Order: sequence, then structure tokens, then C-alpha cells
Amino acid sequence: MSEKVYPVLASAKKDALIDNETYLNWYKQSIKDPEKFWAKHGKRIDWFKPYTKVKNTSFEGKVAIKWFEDGVTNVSYNCIDRHLKKRGDQVAIIWEGDNPYLDKKITYNELYEQVCRLANVLKKHGVKKGDRVTIYMPMIPEASYAMLACTRIGAIHSVVFGGFSPDALAGRIVDCESTFVITSDEGMRGGKPIPLKDNTDKAIDIAARHHVMVKNVLVVRRTGGKTGWAPGRDLWYHEEIASVKPECKPEKMKAEDPLFILYTSGSTGKPKGVLHTTGGYLVYASMTHQYVFDYHDGDIYWCTADVGWVTGHSYIVYGPLANGATTLMFEGVPNYPSVSRFWDVIDKHKVNIFYTAPTAIRALMSAGDEPVKKTSRKSLRILGSVGEPINPEAWEWYYQVVGDKRSPIVDTWWQTETGGILITPLPGATALKPGSATRPFFGVQPQLVDNEGDVLEGAADGNLCIIDSWPGQMRTVYGDHKRFIETYFSTYKGKYFTGDGCRRDKDGYYWITGRVDDVLNVSGHRMGTAEVESALVSHDTVSEAAVVGYPHDLKGQGIYCYVTLMAGLDGTDELRKELVTHVRKEIGPIASPDKIQFAPSLPKTRSGKIMRRILRKIAEDDFGALGDTSTLADPAVVDDLIANRQNRK
Ligand code: ATP
Ligand code: MG
Repeated sequence: MSEKVYPVLASAKKDALIDNETYLNWYKQSIKDPEKFWAKHGKRIDWFKPYTKVKNTSFEGKVAIKWFEDGVTNVSYNCIDRHLKKRGDQVAIIWEGDNPYLDKKITYNELYEQVCRLANVLKKHGVKKGDRVTIYMPMIPEASYAMLACTRIGAIHSVVFGGFSPDALAGRIVDCESTFVITSDEGMRGGKPIPLKDNTDKAIDIAARHHVMVKNVLVVRRTGGKTGWAPGRDLWYHEEIASVKPECKPEKMKAEDPLFILYTSGSTGKPKGVLHTTGGYLVYASMTHQYVFDYHDGDIYWCTADVGWVTGHSYIVYGPLANGATTLMFEGVPNYPSVSRFWDVIDKHKVNIFYTAPTAIRALMSAGDEPVKKTSRKSLRILGSVGEPINPEAWEWYYQVVGDKRSPIVDTWWQTETGGILITPLPGATALKPGSATRPFFGVQPQLVDNEGDVLEGAADGNLCIIDSWPGQMRTVYGDHKRFIETYFSTYKGKYFTGDGCRRDKDGYYWITGRVDDVLNVSGHRMGTAEVESALVSHDTVSEAAVVGYPHDLKGQGIYCYVTLMAGLDGTDELRKELVTHVRKEIGPIASPDKIQFAPSLPKTRSGKIMRRILRKIAEDDFGALGDTSTLADPAVVDDLIANRQNRK
């Protein structure tokens, strides 16, 4: 892995909320006395009734996780009401449409009214505390209103990404027995309409066959496109909110009352219905948002995720709004109308903090520097990355070209399950190493163990566990606590197992090496997929790479590489040889690729992550049963890969 170190930038240190000394101090306190540390930081949100108990958590036996358990609060109150006096007229949400000529600014006062009205609509139609509401929306402000309105009345939301099919939507409606759906007529992405209401209608029919009857569908008119209509069941959003009062008292919620259910991305198998609760989640989301992004009052903050993913929950909606921030919400895609779109939006709204995913960075990198360089990006102060390991090559490009070497990159490692960021640099405190998520956030205790569960000390390579709870941790798999215990706490007894492989270097920095299930074992040498992929991506011709193992007579496992070339390049046998030589040079002969398949695109989840489990099947020439493919973004990609596989038996 890259040995380069970037010291903390002087500009990032100046006025930073946390410098290195503070980080080390607070971190030590947070581990030595978590009760005391979180008793103090739990107060960053407002409580109707203060907590007296702080931490009551066990990773043993039945696994019970409770934070601030006797405290009473409300999430929408914390994200809206408490800001009104000071910043009622400040912009809460900047909405940037798919169409670059469409945008909108929503102040905290306006947010209050919209959320209260919608909360009253939900109540009017019988939605009560504890009921599950499915939100299947494009990236429009109403998606945030819907989430916040649920929290206002204590309903549990389940946001389903607007790119999912009727089947996937139905599965999620059925899983949590949701009887109220909020959607829109259509969504708009990259200039193309997406039939959300029609998908919803189909999903409701499927759900009915599983005996879950959706009672109402509330429909936002986004495009005016034609949709089916079930009178009595379907309701127009604009009509409904016009007929209710613009204020609604926030429900008193116990800290451990459920807040939302969210399904994981499905990279490694069937998605899990992750349940988060009220108090601890909000404390953790807001605290990480403030310190990881060094958020100062007045900063314009943009996270490009979709609200259908946990990143959208914690770092578009809840974290920023709890902090009284201005958060930008983008309806579109990175390459529409051009590959300069992200940078154009940054210039248009003077964005200071920008948070995106490696998949987007790699895609934009392959379009060259010019589309970036023709924009100013002067407002940028901090860059962030999340979702997959960021290859050092992509990191450098993000830092040098996008950030003009002025903005530290926070490479944030976390999961749907963790609620918020667990391992990350802090801009004013942490020297950066490209490709490393660096150090744990306050209160987070990572541990590396070998396959037998023995603890590895110092510089080591192993399986990443977290040995004590943090407030943002998931509480259960919805309706299946057994699966919760089995998935996360039974591999290594008494520890939360992340499923990720990780290396700790001599400076105590953490490097995520990929999913443990994907670890390669070549002639007895264990290797993370990230390492080989990064070596490939560091070659000039390679835009993206995915590496998997396949059974090999001599080595145990052979290395099979799927390689996407930069736009306009052709894969030749000569290039294959060159790439093999390149990887041998970068890592060593042990990492020598056995097969290289040039692939126009890679199979990804709808959240943009490479699905290696599918690639492994193809590499093994065993693609009869690909497993759960419901979260696959583009099934056609798989057919192409199968047709051109390099390992026919
Ligand atoms: P599923 O759990 O259904 O297989 P998933 O793990 O992709 O899907 P998410 O919760 O969206 O679902 O993703 C969390 C995972 O993403 C982490 O376990 C890790 O593998 C990867 N990840 C996230 N951020 C980073 C990062 N900064 N560096 C490396 N890996 C990351
Ligand atoms: Mg996962």
C-alpha cells in the first residue's frame, strides 16, 4: 500500500474544531471512561427528559444495546424546532435538480412548516407511533420531509432507494409489514423519468400476495407524468398537506424507541433490515458530522449519496440538520448533462465540504482532468469518501485535481449497521495516507483478530472487530434478533464482527483490505482484494478493477482480475502481459494475476459497490446460481461477463 504521508495542512489546522492533541486526549478519555465521555456528549442534542443512565450494552449472550435509555427526546425537534430561534431564516436544504436550471432553497422555518403539515397528514390517515412507513422517493426535498415527519410522530420509516425494482420494493414492504407508502409520480435522473408510482402499484400487488395490505399511498407530483390511480387508496401530497394545520407537536420518544429500518446494500448476500433507535443514533450522527467534516456554522455541505442509503440518512438528513447545517440535496447523476456536473454544482452553490464515493471518483477520473480543471472549486475546504476502499490512485486524483491540494480527504469507514462513521481522519488532526481510513473516532475500539479469534497486536493483518458499543450502533435486525446475533456476534464471541478485512500499520493506522469473504489465499499467502485492485488501477490504462479468487490446482487459489479500461482503450493480449508485469512490480510475484478479463463494466449494487460474490461465481465457471441479485444495478453487465469469461472448464 502507498507509503506516502500527507501532514495535516496548515489551512486545515487553523480554526479546526479538533487538533491532534485534542483528538488523542478525547480518544483516551472515551475509552477509559465511556460513561463519562458519552454522558457529556449526549447533551449535544436536546432532551425533553434528561437521561440518568448512559450506557447499558452487552455483546454477550442475547446481545442487548441501550444508550441513554431513560432519556426522552424527538429527532425532528432536534433537527428543526430547536434551531428556529437562532436560524429560522437560514437555509436548511439546498435542492439542486436533475435539470441544472432547477433549484430551490428551504429555510428552517419552511422545513418546520412542511414537516409539521406532513406529520399531520400521516396522523389524519391513522399512522401511529411504531407503525412502519415506506418511503420510495427520488432525491427531492419531500423525501427529507417524509423522514422527518415520521420521526415527529414516532412512526418508523423504511426508505427504499428509488432505483429499486417493484420486486425489491415489495420485499422490503413485506419484511417490515408496512401499510403506508410515500412516493412520487416519477423521478428524474440523467434526464430520464423513472416510474416510481407505477413501480409502487406493482409492489403493492406483490405485497398483497404475501398478505401485507398497503392502505394508503401518498404521491408527490414531481413530473406530472401519467400514473395509475386507486381512488381511496392513493392520495395527492399537495392536496393533503394543504388541508391540515402547519404545526404538530413532536411525540415524546424514549431514547431506545425505534427510529428507522434500513436494508444494507446487499454486496455480500441478502440485505439485512438494520434497526436504529432514536437517542444514541442522533447523538452519534450529529457528532461525527460535526467533527469528521469539521463543520462550522455557515458552511455549505454536500453529500452526494442517495437518501436510500445510510450515508443519506446520517449525512444528508439527520447529522447535518441536527447541527443546524446547510445541506445540499442533489437529484441527478454525476455525468448529466456533462461529466463536469459535480464541479459545476460546487461552484454554483459555493460548496465547502464535499462527500462522495470511490465509484464516482473513479468514473470521473476516467473522463480526464479537463472537465474538472475548467471549473473553479475555490470554495472547497474538505473532501470525503465512503462506501468502498479508495484506491491510492483515485485518492491522489481526488486530492491533486479535484481538491487542488488544498483540501484534506476524510476516507470514512463505516456501515449501515454502525449508524455513523467509525474509522476516519479528522481534518485538523490527522496526517493522511492515501488509501487508509486512518484512526478510530471517539469511543470506537477496533480490534484485529486472526481466523481463530486470537487478538493481533501492533502492526498486523486480520479480521476487523469492534469490541465495545458506540451510541450509533444498530440494535437488531428488524424482526429477527437471532440473525442479528448470528451475523455479528457469533463469529468471534463477545465482539462485533464487521465482515471486513483490515491491516493496522506501525503508526496504528487502519487500512480496509476488503470483505473477509473475498480475501485471497494464494499459496498460503493472504491478500486483500483491495491491494491487488489498487495495483491494477495505478496503471495508466486502468479505470477500475475487481479481483477475486478461484480454485487453482497448485496455488490453492488463483487470482482472477476483471479490468475496466480508460475510455476509448482496447484490451489486447499485450496489455494483459503488461498488467501482469505491473502488478508483480507493485506488490510482488505472489500477487501475479492468473487471468485477466477486460470488462466494459463491473456488476455493482445500486449503491455503486462492486459485487465480488457474482464475479467469483463467474471466475469459478459456476454461474448457475448467482445468489441474491435483487440489488444488482444492471443485470445486463453480468451476461456480458459470462459470455467473455476466461476460465471455461
Ligand atoms: P451487505 O452488508 O448487504 O453485504 P454492504 O456491506 O455493501 O452490503 P453497506 O452497509 O452499505 O452494505 O456497506 C458497508 C461496507 O462498505 C463496509 O463493511 C465496507 O466493506 C465498505 N466500506 C464503506 N466505507 C468504506 C471505506 N471508507 N473504506 C473501505 N471500505 C468501506
Ligand atoms: Mg455489510
